[in-house]
Amino acid sequence: MSSEPTTPTPDREALLAEALRERDEYLAKVGGCTDGNCIIVKPKGMHTNGGCRCASSFVTMQRFAYASNRFADAVRALAGDRP
Ligand SMILES: [Zn+2]
Repeated sequence: MSSEPTTPTPDREALLAEALRERDEYLAKVGGCTDGNCIIVKPKGMHTNGGCRCASSFVTMQRFAYASNRFADAVRALAGDRP
């Protein structure tokens, strides 16, 4: 029913890639807990074991939610939906 394009155009793909790059850059600044299974940032090279500890940090979870919501808003805007 919608006249909105359903397949990604190059512009939309570029905007989506930009939104993803912004998200990844923000989370890299937030930083993870250095565990090998960290849910925020997968460490490159040396890492600790024992499980991700990020969920126990209120501030890290706030920042993760911010990045997730911001990325979701960008995707919704590209999909033509209202956030
Ligand atoms: Zn972690």
